[in-house]
Amino acid sequence: MAKLIDGKETAKNIREELKKEVEELGLQPGLAVVLVGEDPASQVYVRNKEKACATTGIASFKHTLSAETTEEELLGVIKDLNSDDKVHGILVQLPLPKQINEHAIIEAIDPAKDVDGFHPFNVGRLTIGRPTYSSCTPFGIMELLKRYDIDIEGKDAVIVGRSNIVGKPMALMLLAKNATISICHSRTKNLDDKVRAADIVVAAVGRAEFVKGDWIKDGAIVIDVGINRTDNGLVGDVEFTEAEKRASYITPVPGGVGPMTIAMLLKNTVEAAKQSGK
Ligand code: NDP
Repeated sequence: MAKLIDGKETAKNIREELKKEVEELGLQPGLAVVLVGEDPASQVYVRNKEKACATTGIASFKHTLSAETTEEELLGVIKDLNSDDKVHGILVQLPLPKQINEHAIIEAIDPAKDVDGFHPFNVGRLTIGRPTYSSCTPFGIMELLKRYDIDIEGKDAVIVGRSNIVGKPMALMLLAKNATISICHSRTKNLDDKVRAADIVVAAVGRAEFVKGDWIKDGAIVIDVGINRTDNGLVGDVEFTEAEKRASYITPVPGGVGPMTIAMLLKNTVEAAKQSGK
């Protein structure tokens, strides 16, 4: 039976550590959160981010814009936040309404305030192994692996999903720790065989219980990024009850990867505040 990786408890510990760091920092880190439109899920995410900021002593500045906001208007908001000294991190909640080009917005954020780690400058630095702001979900997964003393070096890792925010940066981070990586996606052939051979499986597909329990090799480490709302509540991308019997470690959904994402956003914001003072 696998050991559960408790993201909720780990995220709480990280928030407590950050709170102490903030108290000793000599300036208050500030995170600007920009929400465009009224997507209910985005509203929940933004509220959770504001709450988490409050518990760690980070100032949060919320900017709520209407669903009709133009790209030019949003670029204007970003420009103001880039030059605001109280703001150390800028987060634009995705997805954006269709009239706005997501790439143009991400690229307008000052890379020094890009605490989501989505700007091409920061993605490039991650690629060449330079210090950077890393995408919060894979960064949170690396932190979980570290805090559970899980050895990565030389392991075969299979990542299912190749998004810019999860799959690709996850691959780079595991590679930097000397794992051997396969990135799988919707055109991958014999996916089940690839997963069966993996020492580490990261599932970031967005389909409930897509990765079957009997695909998991005995003793594998299973990281489930998926958040799928079903009639039975929140469900991950991995068939948990079966996978748990085979894995050595597994993240539950909810309470695994999810809480870590916001904790790492706070960590990046505190780091950005520290860097601004240098
Ligand atoms: P995307 O939709 O951007 O990417 C999904 C990936 O899964 C794509 O690369 C896609 O392949 C691949 N895929 C889809 N169908 C299949 C298939 N049949 N076989 C193999 N691969 C397939 O999702 P995200 O990366 O943004 O998110 C993934 C999941 O993680 C979602 O459930 C999301 O809610 C969750 N999530 C959780 C976070 C957290 O904080 N815990 C944060 C971010 C996301 P292709 O590229 O070929 O289309």
